[in-house]
Amino acid sequence: MDTPLIDPFQRAISYLRVSVTDRCDFRCVYCMSEHMTFLPKKELLSLEELDRMCSTFIGLGVEKLRITGGEPLVRRDIMTFFRSMTRHLDSGALRELTVTTNGSQLERYAADLYAAGVRRINVSLDTLDEEKFARVTRWGRLPQVLRGIDAAQAAGLRVKLNAVALKGFNEDELFSLTRWCAARDCDLTWIEVMPMGDLGNEDRLDQYWSLKDLRARLGEEYSVTDLAERTGGPARYVRLEETGQKIGFITPLTHNFCESCNRVRLTCTGELYMCLGQEDMADLRAPLRASNDDALLKEAIRAAIARKPKGHDFDYSRQKADGQMSRHMSHTGG
Ligand code: SAM
Ligand code: SF4
Repeated sequence: MDTPLIDPFQRAISYLRVSVTDRCDFRCVYCMSEHMTFLPKKELLSLEELDRMCSTFIGLGVEKLRITGGEPLVRRDIMTFFRSMTRHLDSGALRELTVTTNGSQLERYAADLYAAGVRRINVSLDTLDEEKFARVTRWGRLPQVLRGIDAAQAAGLRVKLNAVALKGFNEDELFSLTRWCAARDCDLTWIEVMPMGDLGNEDRLDQYWSLKDLRARLGEEYSVTDLAERTGGPARYVRLEETGQKIGFITPLTHNFCESCNRVRLTCTGELYMCLGQEDMADLRAPLRASNDDALLKEAIRAAIARKPKGHDFDYSRQKADGQMSRHMSHTGG
C-alpha cells in the first residue's frame, strides 16, 4: 500500500480536479476569448492516459475526482472514461466522482453519468435570461442548458448551480436565481470573478461584484445563518432560514482557505498545478509516457506535492489585478 500524499504543510491531498479538454462549445466572456486557439490533439492526454493518471492518484489516496475542462462533456468518448472510473467507486477507493459542466450536453449524457456512479454535478449558469445568457456565453443557448438540467434531475443527479457574480450583469437576478433554485431543489453557489487569462477588452475589475455585498443583499430579504461546514476549498456556506436553502460563496481571491487546501489540479496535457493561484506546475505527462510502469509517475507526483505552496498570490487590494494569472480557467479547469 502506498503512503498517502501529504504536503509540506501537513495537508493531505485527497481531491483531484482534472481538466479533460481545453475545448468548449461556449466562449464565456470571463473565461475565453472569442477566437481561442486550442491545443493540438496530440498534446492532450488520451483517455487511457487520463485513466492511468487518475488511477495512480487514487492509489495515492485521492478520494474525490472532479472532471472539468474546457467543457468536459464535449470531449469525444468521454463516457468511456467515466465508465472506467466506476471501478474505483466500486472498490471504495474513490468516494466521489463528479463533474463541472456548462450543461449543454447533459440532455444526452445525464443518464450515462448516473450509471457510471456520478451522483452530484455542478452546472455553471449565471443568468436565467435568454438574451443575457447568449451575451455572457457568446455561443451558448439557455433552453438547451435548462433541458440539460431537467434531464440531470430526472436521471437522479443532484444539481448545484455555480453562478459567477458579475457586477451590472446578474446583480438584479440575485433573488430570482435564489427562488428558481429553491423551486427546483438545486443548491446555489456564487463565485467571485477571478483575474484569469488575458483581460483583452473586458476589464475584469469592472465586472467584480464582491460576495460580501451579495451576501449583505441576501440579508435584506432572508435571515442568513453562517454554516460551519467547509470542504477544504474556497467555499463557505450559509442557510436561508425562510427556505432552508444552502447558498455557497466561493471567494478565490481571499487567502483564508489555503490552510485547509486538500486539492491539486491536472490539466488536459498532464500538467499538475499545486495551487490555483501560483504558476508552479509539474509535468506528469513525460514520466507517464516514459514507461508503462507507474513508478516514475508516482515519484513525479510525490515530488510535485512536496512543492505545494502554502498559499496563493491573488491580491485585489490595490485595485489592480496583482498576481493576475496568465493561464485561462479553461486550461486549469477552475
Ligand atoms: N465548462 C465547464 C463549466 O463552465 O462549468 C467547466 C469548466 S469552467 C472553466 C469551471 C468554472 O469556472 C465555471 O463555473 C466558470 O463559471 C468558472 N470560471 C471561468 N472563468 C472564471 C473567472 N475568470 N472567474 C471565476 N470563475 C470563472
Ligand atoms: Fe466554456 Fe466553462 Fe469557460 Fe464557459 S466557463 S467558456 S462553459 S469552459
